[in-house]
Amino acid sequence: MSVPNRQNLYRKYRPQRFSELSGQEHISRTIQAAVASDRISHAYMFSGPRGTGKTSAARLLAKILNCQNLEKDASGLPDCCRVCDNCRRIEEMNFMDIIEIDAASNNGVEDIRQMREKVKYRPAEGRYKIYIIDEVHMLSGSAFNAFLKTLEEPPPNVIFVLATTDPQKVPATIISRCQCFDFHSVSRRTIQARLEEIVKLESADGIFPVFETEALAMIAECAQGGFRDGLSLLDQIASSISEQPVKLDHVLKLTRRLSYTTLKEITGAVFAHDLGTLVKLLHELYSLGYEPLTIGRDLLEYLRRCMILKIDGEANQLLDLPAEQATEIKAQVADLQVRYLIGSVSRVERALLNIRSSFQARVLLESELIRLGLGDEIFASEAVEKRIEQLEQKVAALRKIAARPVAAAPAREPAVPAPPLPARPALSSVPSRNFAPPPPPHMPDNVVPMTVRQTDPVADFRSAVARRSNVCQALLVNARVKKPEGGTLTIVIEQAFAAGKLKEAKNMSLLLEAAKDVFGAVETVKIHVPGATSDNVPPPQADHREQIARLDEQARQKLLQKPSIADAIDIFGGEIVDLEE
Ligand SMILES: [Zn+2]
Repeated sequence: MSVPNRQNLYRKYRPQRFSELSGQEHISRTIQAAVASDRISHAYMFSGPRGTGKTSAARLLAKILNCQNLEKDASGLPDCCRVCDNCRRIEEMNFMDIIEIDAASNNGVEDIRQMREKVKYRPAEGRYKIYIIDEVHMLSGSAFNAFLKTLEEPPPNVIFVLATTDPQKVPATIISRCQCFDFHSVSRRTIQARLEEIVKLESADGIFPVFETEALAMIAECAQGGFRDGLSLLDQIASSISEQPVKLDHVLKLTRRLSYTTLKEITGAVFAHDLGTLVKLLHELYSLGYEPLTIGRDLLEYLRRCMILKIDGEANQLLDLPAEQATEIKAQVADLQVRYLIGSVSRVERALLNIRSSFQARVLLESELIRLGLGDEIFASEAVEKRIEQLEQKVAALRKIAARPVAAAPAREPAVPAPPLPARPALSSVPSRNFAPPPPPHMPDNVVPMTVRQTDPVADFRSAVARRSNVCQALLVNARVKKPEGGTLTIVIEQAFAAGKLKEAKNMSLLLEAAKDVFGAVETVKIHVPGATSDNVPPPQADHREQIARLDEQARQKLLQKPSIADAIDIFGGEIVDLEE
């Protein structure tokens, strides 16, 4: 049955009074109260999801401000009369003082300049001239700037209503000059109730089809919180259906949605590990022309409901579900773990992402659902797989670290590159897995500095020492290093025991090597202890052993704090047996 030349339902049933703006009562009441007390703002911002009544409310605002004979509604607040000349002309879309601008197609600074030119003229017919700027977030930056000037010095009797689905994109300077209202998504129940009213009125002529309640409930669900989408869908179905009453199946077929019953059957098969039924159900849907993406999308929403109702049994208000569906879903998931449901949601969500780019979308969805149907153990084995993956990543990271010296990176580029020296601690490793051994350490290729930097040879010397020995680096912490004079580098150090340790032959040759690297022509390194009678402090004796042991231990602890080494010990087992220098 086709319905020719019928007026668009959304236009026809657009709210004509504030009391009819259902789902947005918080906004209606505030505006009506402002009109009653004559406290009208010169700029409003209406933000909210598409199809929730922002433009309708803007037109109602224009109407209530220009109505010549305001009425009182049931709660005693002023509302439009719908009878006076202005009200009628506004309803006939024939009122010169409402100017609608679509910012999506008029977003340039020139468009705003043109508007500013016209803004200064007085209203032609009514008391107020209303500019409705739809999708205002689409204005360009310079257009916003031009508009800001108008908002800062608003002409009298002009009111701006900025409507947007994306208020985040509107500059704060604009928002701060507006009175802002947030339009809410309308509940499925409210939309369904409105659809029922409209179908009742329309079908009285015997031409417009009658709808079964379940069919209207599905249309309301598809509307996703917006009246406009709900009414457009109702329109579309009414004009394309040739039999009545319109049933749920008709709606499902036209919207490519899965019914609650089908979704319950599919998930029922998954939860019961009934893989045969699961595959059969999927193939039935495929043969009806349902695409994997559509099935996955509806299934994801159903699983989300399962998860939320499992977590909070009272959440059906939040989910906007019919009470009987909520009760059934709660029973369906009673024996399942929350963990399993959360895992299922994320698996299907991930599958949906992959389906878009897959050549084998059916196989992908099918295998994903079969995995879910295998039950809880799939997640347990996946947890093990994930742990192995993490360990492999750690090992790869360690190999990278092993490929460069462990000691702190030089603060400055050394004047002469240091020869490669292994500086890692020896580990008495007890490998618990057959990991391939890390490649031998090597120095990274010399990097040519991009800019000429101020060098600090003393810092370079400390770094050069650090690359060779963590212990010597630690011993030098409180030392003062003088610049070499006459081929001698002097290190002044207060602590006799540290001086003694540094004076050990292997440390002295290490210091000399580092000094040659950094300063070039250095023949000797002198360790000077202020106050000592001779610079030749004897090597540490028994009374210093304890202090030296403590120092060694400090260096060992410092090494252990390095995440790379701690990780290595964590993974491979073992302990630091000696600080190899
Ligand atoms: Zn009126």
